[in-house]
Amino acid sequence: MRPGALVELREVSIVNEVSVMNERGTILIVDDERVVFESLELFLEDKHDLIYADSGSSGLLMARTERVDLILLDIGMPDINGYELCRMLKSDPETEDIPVIFLTAFSSSNDEAVGLEAGAVDYIAKPINPPIVRARVKSQMTLKLQRDYLELLVRQDSLTSLVNRRGFDELFSREWRRAARARKPLSLIMMDIDSFKLYNDHYGHVAGDHCLQQISAGLGEVLHRGGDYLVRYGGEEFVAVLADTPFEFVGLMAERLRAAVEAMQIPHACSIVKNVVTISVGAATIVPIHSDSPSTLLMEADRMLYEVKKAGRNGAMVVDMGGPEEVPPLAASATP
Ligand code: GH3
Ligand code: MG
Ligand code: MG
Repeated sequence: MRPGALVELREVSIVNEVSVMNERGTILIVDDERVVFESLELFLEDKHDLIYADSGSSGLLMARTERVDLILLDIGMPDINGYELCRMLKSDPETEDIPVIFLTAFSSSNDEAVGLEAGAVDYIAKPINPPIVRARVKSQMTLKLQRDYLELLVRQDSLTSLVNRRGFDELFSREWRRAARARKPLSLIMMDIDSFKLYNDHYGHVAGDHCLQQISAGLGEVLHRGGDYLVRYGGEEFVAVLADTPFEFVGLMAERLRAAVEAMQIPHACSIVKNVVTISVGAATIVPIHSDSPSTLLMEADRMLYEVKKAGRNGAMVVDMGGPEEVPPLAASATP
């Protein structure tokens, strides 16, 4: 999966099948002759967003940096030829999932075989025949958008539309590596609804489900900064992942999340805490190093959560796990 797809997880709740099927998708056209782009534009731009690269190297750069769903690729280009570019795209995890269609004057069956072996999904011979190009682009684009949609679905919790545990495992290890590289703090906030078993017992499972939906929406309103993720970690447990956030702010966020749930005033006649639904919150911050395991942060946040439960629930506790400290350079020793 491309890295962009994980970023989209945050907006996963607005993704549905209808919006995916109506999506235009972005096509990158790589061809050293601009006139090819201009003639494709005439019959493709009503259905898709088009971007253009006039060389292999700029095509490679655009495929890596822009959000591209499909590539139409010429073969004879002066710098990197199309076959070579296709192989490069297919060997890079960031671009390997973008389908490539060759659009070329090299039209022998041997050329076609080489193109398909390089990893292309289709091969269209020039001169351009608009109905053929349109139909083949349409079928590859539909497949690509359906695949992206399924990728999102398997990482989405169906009850709350939040990122699920599987999505969390991926995004957490990615954020961990990123924070270790940048030597920036990474924080986890774990939240667990108080006395939720009693809520289900009293109001029923359907009301319990509805309560989980209300709480996830309420928590989502507190966490709206880019780079924050909200996850349904398990039954009535949620986790927020905060990248590059100072420790003091993590404490503030933990308390804001707790207060937001209490302020929702969802009646809970049987809670051992209050007569409304509350959560307990434990958080931990670390500046990771590559050799640490991400589970250390998870365990610390969980330990804080356990402390809050022990202390009576409906509270928040945070711990700063610090991080690698820079050793100051030794003072130049005085040589005789
Ligand atoms: P504590 O304050 O110690 O956290 O107590 P608790 O009752 O919240 O914790 P416990 O782990 O004993 O119970 C969690 C309950 O959450 C059990 C289960 O009935 C409920 N639960 C878990 N997943 C779901 C769900 O998807 N829907 C509903 N309705 N309830 C769920
Ligand atoms: Mg629990
Ligand atoms: Mg609980």
